[in-house]
Amino acid sequence: TAKKREQGWLYFNQIRDTQVKQKMELWQDLSIAMEQDQFYLVFQPLFDLESNTPLSAETLLRWTHPEHGPISPATFVPLAEQSGLISRLDHWVLNAVARQCRLWLDNELTLPRIAINLSGISFLRNDFEQRLTNTFKAHNVPLHHIELELTEGVLIEDLARIQEKLQRVRDMGISVSIDDFGTGYSSLSRIKNLPVDHIKIDKSFIDDIDKNPQDLKIVQAIILMAQGLQLKVVAEGVETEKQLSILREEHCDVVQGYLLSRPLSVEDFESLIDEDLII
Ligand code: C2E
Ligand code: CA
Ligand code: CA
Ligand code: CA
Repeated sequence: TAKKREQGWLYFNQIRDTQVKQKMELWQDLSIAMEQDQFYLVFQPLFDLESNTPLSAETLLRWTHPEHGPISPATFVPLAEQSGLISRLDHWVLNAVARQCRLWLDNELTLPRIAINLSGISFLRNDFEQRLTNTFKAHNVPLHHIELELTEGVLIEDLARIQEKLQRVRDMGISVSIDDFGTGYSSLSRIKNLPVDHIKIDKSFIDDIDKNPQDLKIVQAIILMAQGLQLKVVAEGVETEKQLSILREEHCDVVQGYLLSRPLSVEDFESLIDEDLII
């Protein structure tokens, strides 16, 4: 059995070593990827449930690794957070969004708000607001076109400091969404003290909304309280007509999901907002 255990350990170490090795490689690759333009952005529209028109669009980062092909942000964003690369990555995104918005404005497209996912690490940096204004100023893009999505995790930090930072950002004309709402540790009583515009109910509550009465109850409660706080509610990950009709009945404000639109390439997104202009 001692031998068996030893083999087990060897096996375990081998797995661990390859995992560590893969992580290390990815870390290095992430750094290179930013310099070599391996990243690009896609845009997923969010629809107003009353007017059925696109209200805003969420920017989602995509990475095509030269050897491994497409890698999900669900994999590389946490890696970037662990390795300290996230501020650079978020900054890359801010800059890429600013550049893209400038192109759209130059082409006289009517832009819906463009939402950007931001790691709490980047938001909490002391120089964040300065970086943000500098980036959009450099491309001459007014900040009212921009929205930031912050996950609930950020909110467990020092409340007074977060309030101040959020207020400064909103004073610039930027809107703020609380992302993945319901999955973290924040409560609506905490949200009540924060200057934010929207909350996005996490997809995990929407998935079984038509089958699981508990999930429906949670969604109803979030919508009711958000209305009381005069926050708009977004439901993420809407995939079926059934989910959509329930959300409509519950007076959810905004919906996002594959049923309405997948994340779109720049070209496809342009034709969507162009079409909207014609109508
Ligand atoms: P998130 O912010 O919660 O983004 C929503 C995710 O759900 C996206 O996955 C989107 O493609 C996916 N999604 C939208 N509608 C549906 C649907 O109907 N069904 C299903 N199954 N999925 C749907 P994605 O693009 O893989 O992004 C994953 C996460 O990576 C994001 O979660 C966000 O936390 C992070 N992320 C993505 N882009 C960025 C970025 O530019 N910066 C930062 N810091 N994080 C990012
Ligand atoms: Ca998001
Ligand atoms: Ca989300
Ligand atoms: Ca998420």
